[in-house]
Amino acid sequence: MALHKLELFENNIGVSDAVLLEPIEEEGFIENLKKRFHHEQIYTYIGTVVVSVNPYRKLPLYTDDVIFEYKSRNIYELPPHVYAIADDAYRSMRDKNLDQCIIISGESGAGKTEASKVIMQYVAAVSGKGQDIDKVKEQLLQSNPVLEAFGNAKTNKNDNSSRFGKYMDIEFDYKGDPIGGLITNYLHEKSRVAVHADGERSFHIFYQLLIGADNNLLQSLKLRKNYESYNFLKHSGSIEVDTIDDKQDFQVTKRAMEVIGFSPEEVRGVFELVASVLKLGNVEFVGQSNMDGTDGCQLKESYEVEEICDLLKCQYEVLQAALTEKTVETRGDKVKVGLSGAGAAYARDALAKAMYSRLFSWLVRKINDSIQKTIMVRTPGKKKVMGVLDIYGFEIFESNSFEQFIINYCNEKLQQIFIELTLKEEQEEYIREGIEWIHVDYFDNSVICDLIEKSNVGILAMLDEECLRPGNVTDTTFLNKLNQTCCEHPHFESRGTKKARSDKSLPHDSFRLRHYAGEVVYKVDGFLEKNNDLLFRDLSQAMYQCQHSLCKDLFPEGDPDKISLKRPPTAGSQFKVSVAELMKNLLSKNPNYIRCIKPNEQKRARVFEEHLVRHQVRYLGLMENVRVRRAGYAFRQLYPQFVYRYKMLSAATWPNWYGVPKDGVKEILIAQDISSDEYTFGKTKLFVRNPRTLFDLEERRRDR
Ligand code: ADP
Ligand code: MG
Repeated sequence: MALHKLELFENNIGVSDAVLLEPIEEEGFIENLKKRFHHEQIYTYIGTVVVSVNPYRKLPLYTDDVIFEYKSRNIYELPPHVYAIADDAYRSMRDKNLDQCIIISGESGAGKTEASKVIMQYVAAVSGKGQDIDKVKEQLLQSNPVLEAFGNAKTNKNDNSSRFGKYMDIEFDYKGDPIGGLITNYLHEKSRVAVHADGERSFHIFYQLLIGADNNLLQSLKLRKNYESYNFLKHSGSIEVDTIDDKQDFQVTKRAMEVIGFSPEEVRGVFELVASVLKLGNVEFVGQSNMDGTDGCQLKESYEVEEICDLLKCQYEVLQAALTEKTVETRGDKVKVGLSGAGAAYARDALAKAMYSRLFSWLVRKINDSIQKTIMVRTPGKKKVMGVLDIYGFEIFESNSFEQFIINYCNEKLQQIFIELTLKEEQEEYIREGIEWIHVDYFDNSVICDLIEKSNVGILAMLDEECLRPGNVTDTTFLNKLNQTCCEHPHFESRGTKKARSDKSLPHDSFRLRHYAGEVVYKVDGFLEKNNDLLFRDLSQAMYQCQHSLCKDLFPEGDPDKISLKRPPTAGSQFKVSVAELMKNLLSKNPNYIRCIKPNEQKRARVFEEHLVRHQVRYLGLMENVRVRRAGYAFRQLYPQFVYRYKMLSAATWPNWYGVPKDGVKEILIAQDISSDEYTFGKTKLFVRNPRTLFDLEERRRDR
């Protein structure tokens, strides 16, 4: 992609491609983003990568007119835009038969999900029309409100924060018309069902249902309208959010489910489960000491459980027993053991979380099935694919736990393929153009990926080993194990190792990883439990016994005929497998990148806080990106376009050049006395080493 617009060179709004910055330094890079941001230029390129700074206000950037402009004009004539990337990707896919993926990253609230919607809007607008095609488009677009209702929540960083990672393949026929789609979800944040931080909320659907459902529906779901009645919601403190209209959103969610193809029974089944989750939160236990000295508990009140049983068509005795006791097997004998009050509360939360997150995965499967069914008779020829990945960026919080560890591992992998693919693409272009490759020094993060994921010795393997080992295993024994196996690793530190023994900034219950994006201290508290992710078998069996077909479907392991002694895979190992699949998928496609940046923490328009942006520029590895792009030649342009732009700078080419374009370029370079080490000739393009050269040419052009 060549970038070359007059605007590129006008100083007051900065350069539209950071590759042209001279020198390449962080300060200048940020200054450039800031200048552009204050001129409503929220997009900036680094070569073919789009950097996007969240404007937190509506800009007139997404109208049909703008789409039309990007569709029908050459990319280098227009300011940077997500549309330009979407268009480039779409056309390469359609015309050159190259499957594409668009990888969107950035921290929470940076604008990833909005960018993914902008891409879908663009693709829907520029691709073909037709009854089935329009239906597929509508289904793809309507999958957003459903996934957002069940998967997004208000957090302190973003009023509509996606609490899951999403990868969506949009499938096209040979003409480039959408014929299907496939969504994969990652890491749904199910802990939010039971608890959330001050000022945050649970998933939108709970509030939508309570405030949006009519009285009939509420009654049949045995729900009361007020949030305060529900333990899982009442600690929110910020239930009403200015930017959210739960009542209206409920209608949008319901309609979207209809458009996608959910039957009325299915929609009802979904709401019955949502209501059951809410009610589970209200089930309370009274602990008691048994005669034999063991703990036990009873339900404080029975009506919530009775109502859940009504909704899920479950026998009261079964659910009541599963909530207060667990079956333990000793030497082949099955014994029921009472749970303590705290133990029962823990198991209840585990059930609510499992129910909700499995419901979410079911929704994704259901959406996929419906979209696949729309066009039954496939057009001949291989389908073409465009994937869009919207997944959390690197996270560094005050206190980091298993979730951050997993998310950061994923980002470490994404960085790995980013560097690999960017370098590969540069290299391929040089080979295509017959130019010698210049070696670039860059930080290869595979050493950190190995530290985390390597079989038998990586941190994830150690964690699994500790989870499966019989005996007294705790988060501390896990940390000790890491200390032994990873102590020599240059990217691992903890107080239990020689090199960090006296490092007071590192707590004893934590380890520190030196990620490509910076150092992160992880507290081991909860690692084992979160990795184990166990639900008592009594509960899954109780759920399987429900006559509620959806609920039954969600707990297949509760089928007594299919009890396997094999443990289900741990959360960490499941994630490792899905990351590996994702990487394989992305690597098989031509990548496009959108890097989103959040300019301030207050979600305010027109505020650009440099220190915040600097932090993100660092952990997105953007300077590394500029350097790799700049490694050989900062700028390249097709010969005819170069002649067209600069022909007035040489008598030989003015007013028109009728010869071979490459010769015309030579004439111009000679006339302008440009030193020959400054450029090189490829097969179709001129490569210019230093952006200064280009600025000089532009200045002279302007002075004419
Ligand atoms: P992320 O998915 O990265 O967490 P979102 O895409 O949900 O972030 O964006 C957070 C909020 O920022 C949005 O709800 C919207 O208000 C605002 N926003 C993001 N991108 C844009 C944009 N391009 N134009 C206007 N507002 C935006
Ligand atoms: Mg999001």
